[in-house]
Amino acid sequence: MKIVMLGAPGAGKGTQAEKIAAKYQIPTISTGNIFRKNMKEGTELGKQVQAIIEAGGLVPDELTNALVFDRLGNEDCKDGYILDGYPRTVPQAEAYLAFLAENNDKLDHAIDVDVPDESIVSRMSGRRVCPDCGETYHLVVNPPKTEGICNKCGAALIQRKDDAAETVQNRLTTYHDQTEPMISLYKERGMYDRVDGTQPIDKVFEDICAILG
Ligand code: ADP
Ligand code: ADP
Ligand code: ZN
Repeated sequence: MKIVMLGAPGAGKGTQAEKIAAKYQIPTISTGNIFRKNMKEGTELGKQVQAIIEAGGLVPDELTNALVFDRLGNEDCKDGYILDGYPRTVPQAEAYLAFLAENNDKLDHAIDVDVPDESIVSRMSGRRVCPDCGETYHLVVNPPKTEGICNKCGAALIQRKDDAAETVQNRLTTYHDQTEPMISLYKERGMYDRVDGTQPIDKVFEDICAILG
């Protein structure tokens, strides 16, 4: 099964992607996590994308497409995968769908976790992430078992630089300008499903499971 997660920054794509991954035993590929890992390790790629990400912009399409297509060639993707945060522009979506067609493959579901902008800001300010394994928490709705510590790997949690209130505004603008227009592309192809992302995490997951079957 191949799934694309859609939704504004902070809508809960990553949170739901991890739950789907656990239930269906397929990997999650998060371009944001890949970029952050490279930034943390100070790789060439990390240095190339850092300023863009910290300003709330988007990494160029060609670079992102090449990175994802390479990753999708891995053995662990052969039974399916969940894309979290990719595609993020109309050209990326077109390139991805062409990549699938070339491989005689198809996308099963594009799931839109729909949350209005008003709710996004409080989600972002409470978000804490693990710099080592990428696990995501929220101070109020999804806190770690021990304050400030990752449940999965024990690392000290951090707040993402791009979750600062000023940058969140830029990212929402970027989303509406460049990412949201992708939705019609999936609708035309009959791959689009929407869930109400303002519900509690487990209820959103239930709705997604009903779509996936
Ligand atoms: P969020 O969880 O808020 O949706 P992500 O972790 O997916 O954010 O992405 C963080 C940042 O990484 C984005 O704001 C953007 O700068 C960059 N990024 C991630 N995925 C892509 C992509 N597919 N294309 C371009 N830039 C991307
Ligand atoms: P995205 O990957 O779309 O950027 P995340 O999954 O990282 O979003 O979620 C953003 C923040 O909101 C995190 O702190 C997460 O714990 C929290 N969150 C996720 N889903 C919900 C929900 N249904 N209700 C309230 N908070 C949520
Ligand atoms: Zn961790």
